[in-house]
Amino acid sequence: MPIDSRPALGWEMPDRTRFLFLMSRLLQFAEENKIPVACFYFYRTEAEQRTLFLAGKSEVAHSTHQDWLAKDLFVFDEDWEPIWEHTAGDGYSRLGAFWKTLDPRCRWGGDFRHKPSDPLGWDPYHFELAKPRGPLAPPLRA
Ligand SMILES: [Zn+2]
Repeated sequence: MPIDSRPALGWEMPDRTRFLFLMSRLLQFAEENKIPVACFYFYRTEAEQRTLFLAGKSEVAHSTHQDWLAKDLFVFDEDWEPIWEHTAGDGYSRLGAFWKTLDPRCRWGGDFRHKPSDPLGWDPYHFELAKPRGPLAPPLRA
């Protein structure tokens, strides 16, 4: 069931604040569904992104991590070991599906595929609030 993720604050949240608000909803969902998670990556500097990009460990020259608009979360197993393997229907998939209900701009790395025929995405740990794009999106603030 989609939830109303808009806060009743009477003002429009800046993107970074909105991202944290949406992330709090995601963590609440994780708790309610007994999916143990922890954040292992949030902010990334330009130099860190350049290093990852040149090493082929990131596919973009500029990451939403640099804008404070992405977090990487681990899902843990019953022994509190991080789960690295992403399988269909697992905790990552459940979190990703819920994340995308929160806002049209919520993107989940589990949907990032090298080619359309790939059964699963390559970055299930990644949850981001994409920047507005196109004529329907509100203008970016300076
Ligand atoms: Zn990420």
